Amino acid sequence: MDLALRLLAITRDMGIKNITIIGGEPTLWKHLMEFNVECRKAGIKTTLVTNAYRFGNNDYWRQYVDKPNDKIGASLKAFSSDSAMRIAKIHDFEILKIGLHRVVSRFGSGISFVCNSFVLNDLLPLAKVAYECGARSISISPCTPSFSKGEVDTSGMVPLIDLVENIVLQYDKINDLFAGQLMFSIKTPLCIWPKDFIEKLTERGQLRTSCQFQHRSGIIFGPKGQIMACNSMADFPIGIIDENYNSAESLIKLFNSPTVVANYNYINSYPSELCIDCPKASLCRGGCPLMWAVYNAKESIPGW
Ligand code: SF4
Repeated sequence: MDLALRLLAITRDMGIKNITIIGGEPTLWKHLMEFNVECRKAGIKTTLVTNAYRFGNNDYWRQYVDKPNDKIGASLKAFSSDSAMRIAKIHDFEILKIGLHRVVSRFGSGISFVCNSFVLNDLLPLAKVAYECGARSISISPCTPSFSKGEVDTSGMVPLIDLVENIVLQYDKINDLFAGQLMFSIKTPLCIWPKDFIEKLTERGQLRTSCQFQHRSGIIFGPKGQIMACNSMADFPIGIIDENYNSAESLIKLFNSPTVVANYNYINSYPSELCIDCPKASLCRGGCPLMWAVYNAKESIPGW
């Protein structure tokens, strides 16, 4: 908790007004509610990203609603008891649904899910569970790789061709179920999708492209005070508290240092020459940069 309070003070001194608390699973952090109180005192709004499972427990929920976050983003990984056990090691799917229902009713939250290899053919059943739990908006994003403990985890990733085929196939039914209240964080090059699909998403205001890293809209702190470019890049911290920064001023200096700027520009560069003159480049930016640690950009990007 001491470290969290130091990081809170640094963010407040930088003029940051919103913090997102994300895991792992942040409801397992024993200081969550205490931290929420401190953020409120500091005038900072918080959003919790959670699977909502703990909120299915009556005692936990009672305590939480006394010291809540300002917003909750709930994520759903499974659509049945079997899949909950297999994918998320959650033993009681009914408790999970109670937790989701509580979050949606109290915070008006939508539910998000990741389109990964475990649920690729089951996006509609997932969407139906979200709907049954009261959600009236939904957000979908593809799985991207993560770098942690010296390994690249690609276990949930789906070949791009299968991703496109399955999402295009299941989109209409999910969209109808949610009466158009659907957001798609595409994370992949726009040019791998059928043009009419991208145009439909754009017209309907359902397309979200690029991330906090690409549009420089957020900072990610790891559990040991590491600064990360992305929460999937735990192995490559930009800096560590007390080694590279210890205040708002020193953190801003670190961000503007030649090494960090050069690394940022490298990671954020276009993955293909085709992107340079592409009319969609400012929107697309070539998709999530981490994809290109796994896929070959030359082979994967056809060009708009
Ligand atoms: S050419 Fe590049 S910028 Fe254009 S749509 Fe494809 S990946 Fe995106």
